[in-house]
Amino acid sequence: MTKSSAAIGAKSVAAEVAEVMRAVGVPDASWRNGTRATRSPITGEVIAHVAEASGDDVAGAVARSVAAFEAWRTVPAPRRGELVRLIGEELRAHKAELGHLVTLEAGKIVSEGLGEVQEMIDICDFAVGLSRQLYGLTIASERPGHRMMESWHPVGPVGIITAFNFPVAVWSWNAALALVCGNSVLWKPSEKTPLTALAVQALFERAVHAFGGAPEGLSQLLVGGADVGAALVDDSRVPVVSATGSTRMGRIVSERVARRFGRSILELGGNNAAIVCPSADLDLALRGIAFAAMGTAGQRCTSLRRLIVQEGVSDGFVPRLAKAYGSVSIGDPREAGTLIGPLVDAAAYEGMQKALEAARAAGATIHGGERVLADVWPDAYYVRPALVEIDEQVEIVTHETFAPILYVLRSAGLPESIKLQNGVPQGLSSSIFTNDLREAEAFLSAEGSDCGIANVNIGPSGAEIGGAFGGEKETGGGRESGSDAWKAYMRRATNTINFSRQLPLAQGVSFDVEG
Ligand code: NAD
Repeated sequence: MTKSSAAIGAKSVAAEVAEVMRAVGVPDASWRNGTRATRSPITGEVIAHVAEASGDDVAGAVARSVAAFEAWRTVPAPRRGELVRLIGEELRAHKAELGHLVTLEAGKIVSEGLGEVQEMIDICDFAVGLSRQLYGLTIASERPGHRMMESWHPVGPVGIITAFNFPVAVWSWNAALALVCGNSVLWKPSEKTPLTALAVQALFERAVHAFGGAPEGLSQLLVGGADVGAALVDDSRVPVVSATGSTRMGRIVSERVARRFGRSILELGGNNAAIVCPSADLDLALRGIAFAAMGTAGQRCTSLRRLIVQEGVSDGFVPRLAKAYGSVSIGDPREAGTLIGPLVDAAAYEGMQKALEAARAAGATIHGGERVLADVWPDAYYVRPALVEIDEQVEIVTHETFAPILYVLRSAGLPESIKLQNGVPQGLSSSIFTNDLREAEAFLSAEGSDCGIANVNIGPSGAEIGGAFGGEKETGGGRESGSDAWKAYMRRATNTINFSRQLPLAQGVSFDVEG
C-alpha cells in the first residue's frame, strides 16, 4: 500500500520546520541566511540554508573547548550530573517539537522521531546516576605498607562526529557521558541533518542557563561537511574523537587520529543477520524481522540485512514475509499509519538500485525494491522494501547497502547458519529466533555470533541505552552508551601509595645507595 499524503496541499515541510525552530528558540541567522541548502527527504524541498563553520572557526572552538574543560574538570562529578539532569528536563519539555523535527529533517515516522528523543532522555537519566558512580578499583599491593588504586580522570575535549540516521541520539550517547566524566564536547553533525543539531544546541543553552555557572563553550556545535570533521580529527588538542558513520569514513578518521596518538571511538557500518530455527515462534519472528528489516526504511546501522532461514522453516515462512513486504504502508512519515518513510536522498536510492542489479545478476529472485510516489514528490525517494531470495552469500550480500534490502539465505542447520552469519566483514548486531535452549546458548557462546550485539527472539535493531552499544571487525570496535562505556571518555591513572618508612622495590629488585 502506498499513501500519497492526504496532507498534500497542507502545510509545507519548510513551514513546519520554521514553527519548530521558533518554538525551540533557534536563532534565524544560524539556519535561514547561510550558504548550505538543507532538503527534507519527505518532499525533497529546501527547508533551510545553514551557516557553516570554517577551519578557523574549528580552531577557535577547540581553544574555547580546552578552556571550558580546564574549568569543568574541577567541578564535582555529581554537580556535573546536575547539568545533564537539566538537559534531560529540556528534552522532556520539548520532546514533541524535537521529535517532529527529526521526522521533518531525517524522514523518520512519528513514533521513531519521538523514540529518538526518548533515547536522549534515557541516556541523560543514566548519566545522572553515573555521575555518582565513576568508580575506580583498590588493588592489593605486593609491597608491605603500600596501597594501590586506580583513578579515573577527565580526559579533555571530546570530538563527536555523527551520521544522518540518528541525528540527535548519537550526540546524547556521547555528550551525556562525556559531560559527567568532566569533559567538554565539540559536535560535528551530519551535513544532511544540521537543523536537529541546532535545536539540540538551543536546548543545551537553556539547560546551561538554568544550571548557572557552566564554563562558556562547554558544548559547541560545528556545522559543516567532511572538511569540518577533518579539522576536528586532526586537532591534537582533542584527545578523543567519537565517529559514527560509514566504514569508509571510519577508516580515514581512525588513521588520522592514530597518527597523532589520539583515541577514537568508532561506530561504523553493520551487516546484521537473523537466524530462524525450526523451533522458532514464527509469528513472533515475522514481527521482529519486519520491524528490523523495513523499519526506518532500512536506514539503521542495526537494520536487518540478511535473513538465514533453516530448512524446514523456509518454505512456509518466506512467502509470509513476502506478503508483509507487499502490504506495508509507505508514504509521508508525518501521517499516522505510515510505517515506511523516504530514503534520505537520491544517492541512497541509486545505491539501492545498484545493489539490486548486482543481486539480480547473481541469480536472485527479488520481491519489491521499486520506487513509489515519484509522481507525487519527484525530488523525494520512496521505495518498496526489497526481499531478495539468493542462493549464496555472494559479494554484494557482504556489503552494507544503507536501504531496505533483506537478503534471504537458506541453511542446513545451526553451525552452517552461524558460519554464514559471521562470514561478512562487519560485526555489529545479530539475532536468533529459536525456542531451543541449546541453540540459543550456542549462538551466544564463544563459538556463536561474533557481533557486539547478539539477541534471542528479538531482531537486531532497537537497542536500549543500558547496554554498551557497538560492534566488532569493520564496525570499528567502539562502545557507547551504557554499561562501562564511560571509561572511554576518561583517562585512567594507576596510583601506588607508600605509607611505610621503608622503600621496598617491586619484584624484589634492590637498589641501595649511600647518601
Ligand atoms: P557518513 O560516513 O557519510 O557520514 C558520517 C559523518 O562523518 C558525517 O558527519 C560526515 O560529515 C562525517 N565525515 C565524512 N567523512 C569524514 C572525514 N574524512 N573526516 C571527518 N568526518 C567525516 O555516514 P552517513 O551516511 O551519515 O550514515 C550512515 C552510516 O553510518 C552507515 O554506514 C551506518 O551503518 C553508520 N552508522 C553506524 C552507527 C553505529 O553505531 N555503528 C550508528 C549510526 C550510523
